[in-house]
Amino acid sequence: WHDKLLGGFRRTSDRLVGNLAGLGTARLDENTLEEIEEALIASDLGPETATRIRTRLADGSFERNMEELGIRLVVAEEVEKVLAQVAKPLEIDAFPRPQVILVIGVNGSGKTTTIAKLAHLFMEQDYGVMLAAGDTFRAAAIGQLATWAERVGVPIVTGPEGGDAAGIVWDAVKKATETGIDVLIVDTAGRLQNKRELMDELAKIRRVLGRINPAAPHDVVLVLDATTGQNALSQIEVFKEVAGVTGLVMTKLDGTARGGVLVAAAERYGLPIHAIGVGESMNDLRPFDPNEVSRIIA
Ligand code: GDP
Repeated sequence: WHDKLLGGFRRTSDRLVGNLAGLGTARLDENTLEEIEEALIASDLGPETATRIRTRLADGSFERNMEELGIRLVVAEEVEKVLAQVAKPLEIDAFPRPQVILVIGVNGSGKTTTIAKLAHLFMEQDYGVMLAAGDTFRAAAIGQLATWAERVGVPIVTGPEGGDAAGIVWDAVKKATETGIDVLIVDTAGRLQNKRELMDELAKIRRVLGRINPAAPHDVVLVLDATTGQNALSQIEVFKEVAGVTGLVMTKLDGTARGGVLVAAAERYGLPIHAIGVGESMNDLRPFDPNEVSRIIA
C-alpha cells in the first residue's frame, strides 16, 4: 500500500513541483511570491495554506533566489503542520456498545467500498462488526454492500429496495446490541440532488438511533472522492449542513494529481481525517502519517 500511496501523491507532487518549476530561478520579489502562491493554489492545497507558505517565504528572504529558498521544504513543513492536526484514526471506545458509525457521501464517492474497508480494518483489530444497508434508494446499493459483507465476513442487516432506511437501522441496532457487536457501520443514501429528502431521512435515522442509545450515532463519517478536487470541499459544506459531520475519509488518492485537496480540506474545516483510500480492495484503507504524506507531496 505504501507504493500506492507514493504513486498517488507522486502525481500530486509532480503537479506541484511542475507548477513551481515553471517559475524559474528568478530572485524572489512580490511578483514571484504571487506566482508561488498561485502555483500552490493550482495544486489544490487551498488558499489558506498557500498564503501561509507565501508569508513564510517572504519573511526576510528577499536576499535569496528561488533555489536557495528551499520552497519545497517549506511546503512540506506547512503541509505536515496542517495534516498533523487532523490525522485521527477512528477509535472504537463507545460504551455501551455498539459504536454506531454513520457513513455518508454522494454516490460514486467510494462509500460502499470504504464501509467494506472499515469493516475489514475493525475485524483485523478483533472487533465484532455488523453492517446496516441503509441506502435503500439506489438500485443495487443493497446488493453491493451484501457482497462486500460476505467477502469481509461480517453480518449485514438489509431490507427491501425502496424500503424505510430508519427501519433497517432500528433492526440493525437491536440485533447488534443483542449479539454483542462492537461496531455497527450504517450505509446511507447519497442523493444530494434532493437535499430535503436526504436531510429528513438522516434525521429519522438519528431519531431511531437516539431512542436506543442517546449517544448514537457516535461518528458521522463523510466519504469524499479526491479526484473531484475542489468539488470535494463543497460537499463538506453541504453535508455539514445536511447531516452533521464528525470526520472524513478521502478516497481514490492512488493515482490522482489532486491529492492536495486533502490539505485544503484539513486547513479549512479542521475535521478529523480518519483514513485515506488508496485502491479498490478491502486492504486499501490506511490511517495516514502526516510526515510521510507531506514529504511525498513536496
Ligand atoms: P459509492 O457509490 O459511493 O458507494 O461508491 P463505490 O464504493 O461503489 O465506489 C465507486 C468506484 O470507486 C468503484 O469502482 C470503487 O472500486 C472505486 N473506489 C472506491 N474507493 C477507491 C479508492 O480508494 N481508490 C480507487 N482507485 N478506487 C476506489
